[in-house]
Amino acid sequence: MDIGIIPDGTDISKMTSPRRSYVIVGAGVFGVSTAYHLIQKYPDADITLVDRDAWNSDNRVAASWDWNKVVRADYDDLIYCRLAIEAQDVFKSDPLWQPYFHETGVYWMCRGSYAQDVIRNYKTLGRKAEISAVPVAEAKELYDGLFKDADYTGVTEVLINKTSGWAAAGDCLLAVTKRAIELGVKYVTQEVSTLLMDQGRCRGVCTKSGKSFTADHVLLCTGAYTSKLLELSADEAGDNNLRAGSRIVAGGITTGMAVLDDELFPQFEKMPVGFQGYPAEIGPFMGSLPPTKDREIKWWGPTIFRNTVEVTPGYQISAPPEGRDFGQWKVSKRLQEDIQAAKRLFYGKKSENWPMAKHRICWDAFTTSGDFIISPHSSAKGLYIATCGSFHGFKFFPVLGRYITQMLEGDLAPELVQKWAWDRERPDPALNPEWPRAEMNDLQDTVAKL
Ligand SMILES: Cc1cc2nc3c(=O)[nH]c(=O)nc-3n(C[C@H](O)[C@H](O)[C@H](O)COP(=O)(O)OP(=O)(O)OC[C@H]3O[C@@H](n4cnc5c(N)ncnc54)[C@H](O)[C@@H]3O)c2cc1C
Repeated sequence: MDIGIIPDGTDISKMTSPRRSYVIVGAGVFGVSTAYHLIQKYPDADITLVDRDAWNSDNRVAASWDWNKVVRADYDDLIYCRLAIEAQDVFKSDPLWQPYFHETGVYWMCRGSYAQDVIRNYKTLGRKAEISAVPVAEAKELYDGLFKDADYTGVTEVLINKTSGWAAAGDCLLAVTKRAIELGVKYVTQEVSTLLMDQGRCRGVCTKSGKSFTADHVLLCTGAYTSKLLELSADEAGDNNLRAGSRIVAGGITTGMAVLDDELFPQFEKMPVGFQGYPAEIGPFMGSLPPTKDREIKWWGPTIFRNTVEVTPGYQISAPPEGRDFGQWKVSKRLQEDIQAAKRLFYGKKSENWPMAKHRICWDAFTTSGDFIISPHSSAKGLYIATCGSFHGFKFFPVLGRYITQMLEGDLAPELVQKWAWDRERPDPALNPEWPRAEMNDLQDTVAKL
């Protein structure tokens, strides 16, 4: 007789250990990766993934939903270098992920010691890769001189890593979400309005349409919206300790894409990802991504901004703008100019007349150090936070769920517990070039009042 079955056919193991239950809010890379890892580890678990947008919608607000994202392990931080290599190994070997990864390499114009720091990290990790720091004059000749008209002011050397590249982000998100649903994850399209709190414990979430979903574990993977959701929940529950405060800041960045014509496309088709790296006092690093299958080449702009609003009386936070799609397609002339500037920094004057196909404002959650938050919330039992991609979270998609599951189970390595804690020492954001410094209101087009 099977040891777990008593004569009436009841499975004792099911009697003694209730079914694990999870509500995960947010179906970007943090949420989907977690759902996908959990359902593989616990096929019988009750896992509900709630998002305001349908997983297969052709218009989503998720930062993870994008035409393409850089997938690189070129980090001067050893931990992120290691995790990104782990993630790349999955991108390169697992049939679910493989179709979305393009190993084009990166061409990184470095100001300072960045190239040497990355190469040192690869060596420390014992990882072999076609990676080198190339003198500027020599680098300009590479890739048929594709970047010879870039701005090299202050560039000390160029980091070439042929094993990095980019991923078709939205398509990849779609495929992994679909697989998680096939494995048993329930996907619910609802906007969560507040957490369901009960005497200091989080029991679930309430939605705008009046539904509620309960579980033993409530995980917020709500990206740029996280602060606002906690703000509204704190107000509703009368518990100030739920607020994110200065731990999380929502930041917006502009992306823009230009269409390459029949003559230009073949020159750029196999290009590596281009980067312009700057020290904090100058600004954030900038990127130029290779063309998509629609022949659209992408940049992001140098201005990273907040949208400061009073969500509840007396509390000012940064949150994505109100509205169905955060107004992500309404990009002011000032912000479109950011993309023109980025274009010039990579390709000089020749790019000036490339026709722009689209602009989008993309919102992500930031911490002062750029480290994620993957942690229990210290003021509510049953509530966990996994977000703050800080403009670099996508590339970890294949492995995020493994670490978030470890966090849920108290098994995260001590160095990661400390790095990603809800409560931790936070460095001065002055040291972070990607910190949202501008205010969205100051970047809008001025309307003449007659
Ligand atoms: C312009 C730009 C370029 C980037 N480029 C790169 C790159 O090249 N490489 C890289 O690695 N990273 C990049 N990043 C960073 C990366 O995209 C993000 O860090 C990552 O996608 C964040 O994932 P997430 O799951 O935390 O959030 P998101 O992807 O934003 O997902 C959050 C989800 O939560 C849902 N949600 C929020 N609130 C609610 C609610 N109340 N109810 C229901 N659902 C809710 C949203 O609908 C959304 O689907 C970039 C970011 C931006 C903005």
